Amino acid sequence: MMMNAAQYEASLRKLRLNVFLFGERVDNVVDHPIIRPSMQAVALTYELAHRPEHAELMTATSHRSGRIINRFTHIHQSVDDLVKKSKMGRLLGGQTGCCFQRCVGLDALNALSIATHAIDRAQGTGYHARFLDYLDYVQAHDLTCDGAMTDPKGDRGRAPHQQADPDLYLRVVAERPGGIVVRGAKAHQTGAVNSHEIIVMPTISMRPEDRDYAVAFALPADAEGITYILGRQSCDTRKLEGGTFDAGNLRFGGHEALAIFEDVFVPWERVFMYKEHAFAGRLVEQFAAYHRQSYACKVGVGDVLIGAAQTIAEYNGTARASHIRDKIVEMNQLNETLFCGCLACAAEGHREPSGTYAVNTLLANVHKQNVTRFPYEIARLAQDIAGGLMVTLPSEKDLRSAAVGGWIRKYLQTRPEVRVEDRMRILRLIENLTLGAAAVGYLTESMHGAGSPQAQRIMIARQVDLGAKQALARRLCGIGDDAVD
Ligand code: SF4
Ligand code: FE
Repeated sequence: MMMNAAQYEASLRKLRLNVFLFGERVDNVVDHPIIRPSMQAVALTYELAHRPEHAELMTATSHRSGRIINRFTHIHQSVDDLVKKSKMGRLLGGQTGCCFQRCVGLDALNALSIATHAIDRAQGTGYHARFLDYLDYVQAHDLTCDGAMTDPKGDRGRAPHQQADPDLYLRVVAERPGGIVVRGAKAHQTGAVNSHEIIVMPTISMRPEDRDYAVAFALPADAEGITYILGRQSCDTRKLEGGTFDAGNLRFGGHEALAIFEDVFVPWERVFMYKEHAFAGRLVEQFAAYHRQSYACKVGVGDVLIGAAQTIAEYNGTARASHIRDKIVEMNQLNETLFCGCLACAAEGHREPSGTYAVNTLLANVHKQNVTRFPYEIARLAQDIAGGLMVTLPSEKDLRSAAVGGWIRKYLQTRPEVRVEDRMRILRLIENLTLGAAAVGYLTESMHGAGSPQAQRIMIARQVDLGAKQALARRLCGIGDDAVD
């Protein structure tokens, strides 16, 4: 059954999540004004799946049940599926103007579909059948899964087992009848408290001494012993101001949380990797490649920012200036270059032995590397076009004030047909995207999400065939055996 937005919201209300924000337990997560915009962004992934015009991108046919499912629960069965995933990311980024959170779980499911199959083939284990049972459950109930990979990592110069506190990477601490007990934490958990399930994976490749840390599993998000501490975002308390447009994005936002696992029991049927340390690195790389592709979302958010920049230029009366037009072209060129990357890694995808289609790893890493840079340049150009008023603008309450509102309307006017309030709204949106809460998603998340820039450079170095390129060069200039004849 594919849920719609209302059913999704109702399903979240049934969860008993243990959530903290500003040092206090949040009893009603769904209606909390700081959290709710992020829930609404995920809800749109449900809602759009029911719109005929978006059905092709937002839905897929399950290879398990043959039913139409939300694409966010689908295991890619073709290159076409991969391409549609990239297009879906752009669509939703444009519709929400923020991180819509649901991709992490999709990427975790696809990475695990490959990894469980690979472990079984090498070790004779039974993980893949277990995983498929779990997948059937996720697809049947149209669940949102939080993909939990990043450990706190402590001293980055030390392996998991060498840390002063052994819990700085999540690990198995005991076996009990029927399952295992895990302890540790996962940082930067995108959409954690909007998720029904949490899928945990290791965060780095591991050696035999780290085998207690080589564990992958899934749990209900409200399993006993899991606590979520929500991260702060720039300007987050503007959402507490009772719906003024100072929040910039009126409806949507994202969130991240620190998820703590305090001796949590995981039944065997939800364990997908257990101390197979040799497979941890491959699972990480597979997940990372998928998630780097997922940064198609930033193309959609870029669409919003470009639209906002053009709008403020028109409001300010600068839209016809040649340098402004050139800056808008530059923003589009950068944004479409990002789109090229996430489409290319999908178009060059291939079939894995499990039957799952995987993206081209090199191109996915090149794409994500571009994402660590281009949104910053697009944001710089947007701020250039917007002008300094974006950060010196009085509040909506001043605009509404009987005492000073008249002055704001008088002195912040531009062209006579432009409402001062509209000018303020678009400036607040640009502020939100480039400095405020959504800048988490558009800028810093572009930098560090799905791995920091250096992680991609390592993968690029590993994936390119330098020798083949050297042979090409030698051949053309007549060096050694490679000389052209
Ligand atoms: Fe999805 Fe983008 Fe958010 Fe990552 S940053 S979860 S890819 S929307
Ligand atoms: Fe992310």
